[in-house]
Amino acid sequence: MAHHVTLLPGDGIGPEVTSATLHVLEATGVEFEWDTHQIIGTAAVEEERPELPDDVPASIRERGVALKGPITTPVGEGFTSVNVQLRQRLDLYANVRPCVSLPGIDTPFDDIDLIIFRENTEGLYAGIETYDARLEIADSTARVTRRGSERIVDFSFDYAQKNGRNTVTLAHKANILKESSGLFLKVGREVAQRYPNVTFNDRIIDNMCMQLVMYPQEYDCIVSTNLFGDILSDLAAGLVGGLGVTAGANFGDDYAVFEAVHGSAPDIAGQNKANPTALIRSAVMMLRHLNETAAARAINTALREVYAAGDVLTADVGGSSSTTEFAENLAERVEEKMAAQA
Ligand code: NAD
Repeated sequence: MAHHVTLLPGDGIGPEVTSATLHVLEATGVEFEWDTHQIIGTAAVEEERPELPDDVPASIRERGVALKGPITTPVGEGFTSVNVQLRQRLDLYANVRPCVSLPGIDTPFDDIDLIIFRENTEGLYAGIETYDARLEIADSTARVTRRGSERIVDFSFDYAQKNGRNTVTLAHKANILKESSGLFLKVGREVAQRYPNVTFNDRIIDNMCMQLVMYPQEYDCIVSTNLFGDILSDLAAGLVGGLGVTAGANFGDDYAVFEAVHGSAPDIAGQNKANPTALIRSAVMMLRHLNETAAARAINTALREVYAAGDVLTADVGGSSSTTEFAENLAERVEEKMAAQA
Protein backbone atom coordinates (compact mmCIF):
# COMPACT_ATOMS: atom_id res chain seq x y z
CA MET A 1 0.00 0.00 0.00
CA ALA A 2 1.25 3.47 -0.88
CA HIS A 3 2.17 5.88 1.93
CA HIS A 4 0.13 9.08 1.82
CA VAL A 5 2.54 11.95 2.48
CA THR A 6 2.32 15.75 2.09
CA LEU A 7 5.11 17.13 -0.12
CA LEU A 8 6.30 20.75 0.22
CA PRO A 9 9.13 21.36 -2.29
CA GLY A 10 9.64 24.89 -0.86
CA ASP A 11 11.59 27.61 -2.69
CA GLY A 12 15.22 28.52 -3.54
CA ILE A 13 17.11 25.22 -3.85
CA GLY A 14 14.06 23.43 -2.39
CA PRO A 15 12.54 22.20 -5.69
CA GLU A 16 15.98 20.96 -6.92
CA VAL A 17 16.84 18.97 -3.79
CA THR A 18 13.25 17.71 -3.54
CA SER A 19 13.25 16.35 -7.08
CA ALA A 20 16.64 14.66 -6.44
CA THR A 21 15.23 13.11 -3.25
CA LEU A 22 12.12 11.83 -5.04
CA HIS A 23 14.37 10.22 -7.66
CA VAL A 24 16.25 8.32 -4.92
CA LEU A 25 13.01 7.37 -3.12
CA GLU A 26 11.62 5.97 -6.39
CA ALA A 27 14.69 3.73 -6.66
CA THR A 28 13.69 2.01 -3.40
CA GLY A 29 10.40 0.82 -4.92
CA VAL A 30 8.50 2.06 -1.84
CA GLU A 31 5.23 3.54 -3.06
CA PHE A 32 4.09 7.04 -2.15
CA GLU A 33 1.02 9.06 -2.95
CA TRP A 34 2.18 12.67 -2.63
CA ASP A 35 -0.12 15.58 -1.88
CA THR A 36 2.07 18.36 -3.29
CA HIS A 37 1.76 22.03 -2.26
CA GLN A 38 3.96 24.43 -4.23
CA ILE A 39 2.31 27.73 -3.28
CA ILE A 40 3.66 28.62 0.13
CA GLY A 41 5.74 31.44 1.68
CA THR A 42 6.57 34.34 -0.66
CA ALA A 43 4.80 32.56 -3.57
CA ALA A 44 1.58 32.53 -1.52
CA VAL A 45 1.99 36.16 -0.44
CA GLU A 46 2.36 37.17 -4.13
CA GLU A 47 -1.10 35.63 -4.69
CA GLU A 48 -2.41 37.61 -1.69
CA ARG A 49 -2.79 34.47 0.40
CA PRO A 50 -1.33 33.94 3.90
CA GLU A 51 2.32 32.76 4.07
CA LEU A 52 1.07 29.40 5.26
CA PRO A 53 -2.17 28.63 3.40
CA ASP A 54 -4.60 26.62 5.57
CA ASP A 55 -4.67 23.69 3.12
CA VAL A 56 -1.02 22.88 4.02
CA PRO A 57 -1.46 22.11 7.75
CA ALA A 58 -4.82 20.50 6.86
CA SER A 59 -3.05 18.13 4.44
CA ILE A 60 -0.42 17.20 7.08
CA ARG A 61 -3.14 16.68 9.72
CA GLU A 62 -4.87 14.24 7.36
CA ARG A 63 -1.74 12.31 6.33
CA GLY A 64 0.34 12.59 9.52
CA VAL A 65 3.65 12.91 7.64
CA ALA A 66 5.29 15.54 5.40
CA LEU A 67 8.54 15.84 3.46
CA LYS A 68 9.52 19.49 3.22
CA GLY A 69 12.06 21.58 1.33
CA PRO A 70 13.37 24.88 2.72
CA ILE A 71 11.19 28.01 2.66
CA THR A 72 12.62 31.55 2.55
CA THR A 73 11.81 33.97 5.39
CA PRO A 74 12.44 37.52 4.11
CA VAL A 75 14.16 39.70 6.73
CA GLY A 76 12.08 42.56 8.15
CA GLU A 77 8.48 43.24 9.05
CA GLY A 78 5.26 41.72 7.82
CA PHE A 79 6.30 38.14 7.11
CA THR A 80 6.07 35.43 9.71
CA SER A 81 8.30 32.40 9.11
CA VAL A 82 6.35 29.55 7.53
CA ASN A 83 8.73 27.11 9.23
CA VAL A 84 8.03 28.49 12.71
CA GLN A 85 4.26 28.71 11.97
CA LEU A 86 4.14 25.11 10.82
CA ARG A 87 5.95 23.85 13.92
CA GLN A 88 3.68 25.87 16.21
CA ARG A 89 0.36 25.09 14.46
CA LEU A 90 1.06 21.35 14.34
CA ASP A 91 2.73 21.41 17.78
CA LEU A 92 5.89 19.78 16.38
CA TYR A 93 7.80 20.24 19.60
CA ALA A 94 10.83 18.02 18.95
CA ASN A 95 13.36 19.00 16.30
CA VAL A 96 15.75 16.07 15.84
CA ARG A 97 18.99 16.72 13.97
CA PRO A 98 21.46 13.83 13.63
CA CYS A 99 25.02 14.81 12.65
CA VAL A 100 26.80 11.72 11.40
CA SER A 101 30.15 11.62 9.56
CA LEU A 102 30.27 10.38 5.96
CA PRO A 103 33.44 8.87 4.49
CA GLY A 104 35.51 10.97 2.10
CA ILE A 105 34.53 14.42 3.40
CA ASP A 106 37.54 16.37 4.58
CA THR A 107 36.65 17.36 8.18
CA PRO A 108 38.75 17.56 11.38
CA PHE A 109 37.02 14.44 12.82
CA ASP A 110 35.79 11.40 10.91
CA ASP A 111 33.76 9.43 13.44
CA ILE A 112 31.08 11.79 14.66
CA ASP A 113 27.66 10.45 15.58
CA LEU A 114 25.69 13.12 17.44
CA ILE A 115 21.98 13.85 17.71
CA ILE A 116 20.76 17.31 18.68
CA PHE A 117 17.24 17.52 20.15
CA ARG A 118 15.99 21.08 19.95
CA GLU A 119 12.80 22.32 21.63
CA ASN A 120 10.82 23.66 18.72
CA THR A 121 7.86 25.70 19.95
CA GLU A 122 8.90 28.05 22.76
CA GLY A 123 12.07 29.74 24.12
CA LEU A 124 13.12 32.87 22.24
CA TYR A 125 11.13 31.70 19.18
CA ALA A 126 7.80 32.03 21.04
CA GLY A 127 7.35 35.38 19.25
CA ILE A 128 6.86 37.39 22.48
CA GLU A 129 8.55 40.66 21.52
CA THR A 130 7.95 44.32 22.28
CA TYR A 131 9.50 47.51 21.01
CA ASP A 132 9.30 50.88 22.74
CA ALA A 133 9.76 53.28 19.83
CA ARG A 134 10.17 56.33 22.10
CA LEU A 135 13.06 54.88 24.08
CA GLU A 136 14.21 52.58 21.25
CA ILE A 137 14.28 49.53 23.51
CA ALA A 138 13.45 46.06 22.17
CA ASP A 139 12.59 43.06 24.37
CA SER A 140 12.26 39.37 23.48
CA THR A 141 10.88 36.94 26.04
CA ALA A 142 12.38 33.46 26.31
CA ARG A 143 9.24 31.55 27.31
CA VAL A 144 10.12 28.23 28.98
CA THR A 145 7.37 26.08 30.48
CA ARG A 146 7.45 22.94 32.59
CA ARG A 147 5.28 21.14 30.01
CA GLY A 148 7.46 22.25 27.07
CA SER A 149 10.69 21.30 28.86
CA GLU A 150 9.37 17.99 30.09
CA ARG A 151 8.15 16.75 26.72
CA ILE A 152 11.35 17.59 24.77
CA VAL A 153 13.68 16.14 27.41
CA ASP A 154 11.46 13.07 27.71
CA PHE A 155 11.46 12.74 23.90
CA SER A 156 15.28 12.80 23.85
CA PHE A 157 15.59 10.16 26.58
CA ASP A 158 12.93 7.96 25.01
CA TYR A 159 14.67 8.23 21.61
CA ALA A 160 18.06 7.48 23.21
CA GLN A 161 16.69 4.42 24.99
CA LYS A 162 14.87 3.03 21.92
CA ASN A 163 17.89 3.57 19.66
CA GLY A 164 20.58 2.13 21.91
CA ARG A 165 22.24 5.45 22.72
CA ASN A 166 24.03 5.90 26.04
CA THR A 167 24.04 9.52 27.13
CA VAL A 168 21.86 12.64 27.06
CA THR A 169 23.60 15.97 27.72
CA LEU A 170 21.39 18.97 28.51
CA ALA A 171 22.79 22.31 27.29
CA HIS A 172 21.64 25.44 29.19
CA LYS A 173 22.64 28.82 30.63
CA ALA A 174 21.10 28.33 34.07
CA ASN A 175 23.96 30.19 35.78
CA ILE A 176 22.75 33.47 34.22
CA LEU A 177 19.20 32.84 32.95
CA LYS A 178 18.17 31.52 36.35
CA GLU A 179 14.43 31.37 35.66
CA SER A 180 14.09 30.20 32.04
CA SER A 181 17.21 28.07 31.61
CA GLY A 182 16.98 27.19 35.32
CA LEU A 183 13.52 25.66 34.85
CA PHE A 184 14.69 23.70 31.79
CA LEU A 185 17.61 22.23 33.77
CA LYS A 186 15.48 21.47 36.84
CA VAL A 187 12.84 19.64 34.78
CA GLY A 188 15.60 17.89 32.80
CA ARG A 189 17.11 16.49 36.00
CA GLU A 190 13.68 15.22 37.08
CA VAL A 191 13.01 13.52 33.73
CA ALA A 192 16.47 11.89 33.81
CA GLN A 193 15.44 10.00 36.98
CA ARG A 194 12.90 8.05 34.90
CA TYR A 195 15.65 6.67 32.63
CA PRO A 196 18.21 4.94 34.87
CA ASN A 197 19.75 3.16 31.84
CA VAL A 198 20.69 6.40 30.08
CA THR A 199 23.49 8.54 31.55
CA PHE A 200 22.57 12.19 32.10
CA ASN A 201 24.84 15.20 32.37
CA ASP A 202 24.61 18.92 31.63
CA ARG A 203 26.83 21.62 30.16
CA ILE A 204 26.62 25.40 30.14
CA ILE A 205 26.01 26.42 26.53
CA ASP A 206 29.28 28.31 25.94
CA ASN A 207 31.33 25.41 27.28
CA MET A 208 29.12 23.02 25.24
CA CYS A 209 30.17 24.83 22.04
CA MET A 210 33.85 24.60 22.90
CA GLN A 211 33.53 20.94 23.91
CA LEU A 212 31.84 20.12 20.59
CA VAL A 213 34.58 21.79 18.59
CA MET A 214 37.37 20.04 20.56
CA TYR A 215 35.95 16.67 21.68
CA PRO A 216 32.80 15.94 19.65
CA GLN A 217 33.27 12.15 19.92
CA GLU A 218 32.65 12.38 23.67
CA TYR A 219 29.02 13.42 23.09
CA ASP A 220 26.02 11.37 22.05
CA CYS A 221 22.56 13.00 22.41
CA ILE A 222 22.28 16.71 23.27
CA VAL A 223 19.00 18.35 24.28
CA SER A 224 18.45 22.10 24.51
CA THR A 225 16.01 24.98 24.27
CA ASN A 226 15.01 26.44 20.91
CA LEU A 227 17.74 29.01 20.14
CA PHE A 228 20.63 27.10 21.75
CA GLY A 229 19.49 23.93 19.94
CA ASP A 230 19.34 25.78 16.62
CA ILE A 231 22.87 27.15 17.01
CA LEU A 232 24.29 23.84 18.30
CA SER A 233 22.84 21.93 15.37
CA ASP A 234 24.49 24.23 12.81
CA LEU A 235 27.76 23.88 14.74
CA ALA A 236 27.42 20.10 14.72
CA ALA A 237 26.49 20.20 11.00
CA GLY A 238 29.79 21.99 10.39
CA LEU A 239 31.66 19.13 12.05
CA VAL A 240 30.41 16.57 9.53
CA GLY A 241 30.67 18.52 6.28
CA GLY A 242 28.15 21.34 6.52
CA LEU A 243 24.52 22.05 5.88
CA GLY A 244 24.50 20.13 2.61
CA VAL A 245 24.69 16.80 4.46
CA THR A 246 22.68 17.37 7.66
CA ALA A 247 19.20 15.92 8.03
CA GLY A 248 16.39 16.89 10.34
CA ALA A 249 12.89 15.99 11.47
CA ASN A 250 10.18 17.72 13.47
CA PHE A 251 8.00 15.49 15.64
CA GLY A 252 4.87 16.15 17.66
CA ASP A 253 2.61 13.60 19.32
CA ASP A 254 0.50 13.29 16.14
CA TYR A 255 2.51 14.52 13.14
CA ALA A 256 6.03 14.44 11.72
CA VAL A 257 7.63 16.81 9.19
CA PHE A 258 10.98 15.77 7.69
CA GLU A 259 13.25 18.58 6.44
CA ALA A 260 16.95 19.36 6.12
CA VAL A 261 18.62 21.77 8.54
CA HIS A 262 19.63 24.11 5.70
CA GLY A 263 17.66 27.00 4.26
CA SER A 264 16.73 27.98 0.70
CA ALA A 265 20.35 28.95 -0.20
CA PRO A 266 19.44 31.79 -2.61
CA ASP A 267 23.14 32.15 -3.55
CA ILE A 268 23.10 28.83 -5.44
CA ALA A 269 19.39 28.39 -6.25
CA GLY A 270 18.46 27.36 -9.79
CA GLN A 271 22.04 26.32 -10.68
CA ASN A 272 21.75 22.53 -10.20
CA LYS A 273 24.59 22.83 -7.67
CA ALA A 274 22.91 22.15 -4.32
CA ASN A 275 23.78 19.05 -2.37
CA PRO A 276 20.59 16.98 -1.93
CA THR A 277 22.17 14.71 0.73
CA ALA A 278 20.59 16.61 3.64
CA LEU A 279 17.05 16.15 2.33
CA ILE A 280 17.81 12.57 1.24
CA ARG A 281 18.98 11.79 4.80
CA SER A 282 15.80 13.45 6.11
CA ALA A 283 13.84 11.14 3.78
CA VAL A 284 15.75 8.19 5.30
CA MET A 285 14.46 9.32 8.72
CA MET A 286 10.97 9.44 7.18
CA LEU A 287 11.33 5.89 5.80
CA ARG A 288 12.27 4.68 9.31
CA HIS A 289 9.24 6.50 10.74
CA LEU A 290 7.09 4.67 8.16
CA ASN A 291 8.72 1.33 9.10
CA GLU A 292 10.38 1.04 5.66
CA THR A 293 13.65 -0.06 7.27
CA ALA A 294 15.04 -2.01 4.30
CA ALA A 295 14.71 1.03 2.03
CA ALA A 296 16.23 3.30 4.71
CA ARG A 297 19.18 0.92 5.09
CA ALA A 298 19.68 0.68 1.30
CA ILE A 299 19.87 4.48 0.90
CA ASN A 300 22.24 4.88 3.86
CA THR A 301 24.60 2.16 2.60
CA ALA A 302 24.51 3.55 -0.95
CA LEU A 303 25.18 7.08 0.35
CA ARG A 304 28.26 5.91 2.23
CA GLU A 305 29.46 4.17 -0.96
CA VAL A 306 28.96 7.30 -3.09
CA TYR A 307 30.91 9.39 -0.57
CA ALA A 308 33.66 6.79 -0.17
CA ALA A 309 34.07 6.60 -3.99
CA GLY A 310 34.19 10.41 -4.04
CA ASP A 311 33.94 10.83 -7.82
CA VAL A 312 30.34 12.11 -8.04
CA LEU A 313 30.00 14.71 -5.31
CA THR A 314 28.66 18.28 -5.26
CA ALA A 315 30.88 21.36 -4.84
CA ASP A 316 30.12 22.01 -1.14
CA VAL A 317 31.88 18.73 -0.23
CA GLY A 318 34.76 19.14 -2.68
CA GLY A 319 33.30 17.62 -5.87
CA SER A 320 32.24 19.08 -9.22
CA SER A 321 29.06 17.14 -10.01
CA SER A 322 25.57 18.57 -10.29
CA THR A 323 22.57 17.88 -8.05
CA THR A 324 21.05 15.64 -10.73
CA GLU A 325 24.28 13.71 -11.46
CA PHE A 326 24.67 13.01 -7.74
CA ALA A 327 21.05 11.83 -7.44
CA GLU A 328 21.27 9.59 -10.53
CA ASN A 329 24.45 7.93 -9.29
CA LEU A 330 22.97 7.36 -5.84
CA ALA A 331 19.63 6.10 -7.22
CA GLU A 332 21.42 3.46 -9.37
CA ARG A 333 23.22 2.13 -6.30
CA VAL A 334 20.01 2.14 -4.23
CA GLU A 335 18.22 0.14 -6.94
CA GLU A 336 21.06 -2.44 -6.87
CA LYS A 337 20.85 -2.70 -3.07
CA MET A 338 17.09 -3.19 -3.12
CA ALA A 339 17.40 -5.86 -5.85
CA ALA A 340 20.09 -7.68 -3.79
CA GLN A 341 17.80 -7.65 -0.73
CA ALA A 342 14.79 -9.03 -2.65
P1 NAD B 1 21.11 28.59 4.07
O1 NAD B 1 21.12 27.30 4.81
O2 NAD B 1 20.08 28.74 3.03
O3 NAD B 1 22.55 28.85 3.41
C1 NAD B 1 23.74 28.99 4.16
C2 NAD B 1 24.94 28.62 3.27
O4 NAD B 1 24.98 27.20 3.09
C3 NAD B 1 24.87 29.23 1.87
O5 NAD B 1 26.15 29.58 1.46
C4 NAD B 1 24.33 28.09 1.02
O6 NAD B 1 24.73 28.14 -0.33
C5 NAD B 1 24.90 26.86 1.72
N1 NAD B 1 24.00 25.70 1.57
C6 NAD B 1 22.83 25.50 2.23
N2 NAD B 1 22.27 24.37 1.83
C7 NAD B 1 23.09 23.83 0.91
C8 NAD B 1 23.04 22.64 0.13
N3 NAD B 1 22.02 21.78 0.23
N4 NAD B 1 24.04 22.40 -0.74
C9 NAD B 1 25.08 23.24 -0.84
N5 NAD B 1 25.19 24.39 -0.12
C10 NAD B 1 24.20 24.67 0.74
O7 NAD B 1 20.96 29.74 5.18
P2 NAD B 1 20.64 31.29 5.01
O8 NAD B 1 21.37 31.84 3.83
O9 NAD B 1 20.85 31.84 6.36
O10 NAD B 1 19.07 31.34 4.73
C11 NAD B 1 18.49 31.51 3.44
C12 NAD B 1 16.97 31.51 3.60
O11 NAD B 1 16.52 30.23 4.05
C13 NAD B 1 16.47 32.54 4.62
O12 NAD B 1 15.32 33.16 4.09
C14 NAD B 1 16.12 31.70 5.83
O13 NAD B 1 15.10 32.29 6.61
C15 NAD B 1 15.65 30.42 5.18
N6 NAD B 1 15.75 29.21 6.05
C16 NAD B 1 14.79 28.29 5.94
C17 NAD B 1 14.86 27.14 6.68
C18 NAD B 1 13.77 26.12 6.55
O14 NAD B 1 13.00 26.16 5.60
N7 NAD B 1 13.65 25.17 7.47
C19 NAD B 1 15.97 26.89 7.51
C20 NAD B 1 16.99 27.85 7.56
C21 NAD B 1 16.88 29.02 6.82
